[in-house]
Amino acid sequence: MNAQPTASHFIDGAYLEDETGREIVCIFPATGETIATLHSATPAIIDKALASARRAQRQWARFTPVERGRVLRRAADIIRERNEELSQLETLDTGKPIQETRVADATSGAEALEYFGGLAATLTGETIPLGADLAYTLREPLGVCVGIGAWNYPTQIACWKAAPALACGNAMIFKPSELTPLCALKLAEIFVEAGAPAGLFNVVQGYGDVGAALATDPRTDKVSLTGSVPTGKKVYAAAAEGIRHVTMELGGKSPLIIFEDADIENAVSAAINANFYSTGQICSNGTRVFVHESIEDKFIARIAERTAKAIIGDPREDATQIGPLVSKSQHEKVLGYVEIGRSEGATLVFGGDIPKGLNAQGFFIEPTLFSGVTDAMRIAREEIFGPVLSVLTFKTEDEVLERANATEFGLAAGVFTKDIARAHRMVAALEAGTCWINTYNLTPVEMPFGGVKQSGVGRENARAAIEHYSQVKSVYVAMGDVEAPF
Ligand code: NAD
Repeated sequence: MNAQPTASHFIDGAYLEDETGREIVCIFPATGETIATLHSATPAIIDKALASARRAQRQWARFTPVERGRVLRRAADIIRERNEELSQLETLDTGKPIQETRVADATSGAEALEYFGGLAATLTGETIPLGADLAYTLREPLGVCVGIGAWNYPTQIACWKAAPALACGNAMIFKPSELTPLCALKLAEIFVEAGAPAGLFNVVQGYGDVGAALATDPRTDKVSLTGSVPTGKKVYAAAAEGIRHVTMELGGKSPLIIFEDADIENAVSAAINANFYSTGQICSNGTRVFVHESIEDKFIARIAERTAKAIIGDPREDATQIGPLVSKSQHEKVLGYVEIGRSEGATLVFGGDIPKGLNAQGFFIEPTLFSGVTDAMRIAREEIFGPVLSVLTFKTEDEVLERANATEFGLAAGVFTKDIARAHRMVAALEAGTCWINTYNLTPVEMPFGGVKQSGVGRENARAAIEHYSQVKSVYVAMGDVEAPF
């Protein structure tokens, strides 16, 4: 299997290599095979990327907003035309099942480009009457934005950052996760094909040190990170040195609360999506499933029955529903948490093992459910980022609300109930940036997405993202004479 790109980086409209950079070995997670070998960016590569992005941004700012929108929408169309090829590459890069990547990755990226492409021409300032005088505002780009990605949704993350950034007139340098470097390069090719100036969207590969070098360079105006809380703290601090703008999309340990009057089948479907989709590697996952004590047995029986039918296997096969985890270290981490759950006294209801009969070199793990989980257990407090669902029980609304909020994270939350007043009361009090009522993990581009507390700063998607990729210039216009005290 070979997914070797033309070169490691894409800068100023073309592939570029510098073999003196540290090796990045790209592994297909289902077999452990090496599918590509890339090189981390050297200082010379980083310098080229920044210089070309600055040049391209000045050129891009001279495009009319309608022209900018057209380029983004063309890019969306090209992505859709190549969805199959892009999805196959995403599956090789991440190990996610092809049935997921065909509908959730490049397609979601295309939607972001289409949405922000449409919005580009509507971004204006305002006029402010001041009696005889007036003021107006100009909505201006920030300049060069650096995007740093996690490995779970490489194409989607690149598009969710690039689409609003470019719509507002910025350039972007994107550094993918070192675990999934391939798909962003395809996106860079597509932008050029769609008519973007060379250098407007550069891709620079590398480990954390390359992200840090980009985040601290004086030519960088904004840093947008999708990653873990510990990385977020470092990148936020590094950006603060230069008073740079930031968007931080970080981790979570989100609650999914199921009341006694919920539709159980729908609640089970949501809990499956909230824990086992993408083999549990989703930031907003509802990994603390609070189930009302009166329906616990029914809920567990039904989720166990349905999960037993899940097809785990080679993610390239159409029928596969659960693929491997992304890497050996993630595999070890998740298996470690299963052990922690057992030793903390939680009841392992199903899963927890490496599935039999699959490639032993792949990073597979069974979908796993623990019951009898208490708030103090590490499996209920720490982000595992794997298919491990914890069931906790509760008695009252007040009690579950307090327990759901007792975490440093605040990315997402879900509530299942048929009582409409209770549903709205709950989401109003839940400390989370994104909430769902009677569903889970739907993130359409039209809806803002992001976290509160340690889960992040800023919002992606929707009109809200515009605030984070542009700045307002105020202009006071005097119509009369200037008064002075002397
Ligand atoms: P990570 O924090 O290990 O790495 C994220 C990115 O940051 C990588 O590209 C990495 O190379 C880079 N990086 C590491 N150290 C850096 C530094 N000092 N300076 C600059 N860049 C640095 O995260 P991960 O393991 O790739 O992804 C999983 C995490 O991402 C989970 O915590 C998950 O919840 C989170 N995530 C959040 C969202 C969201 O939208 N909120 C979405 C997906 C994933």
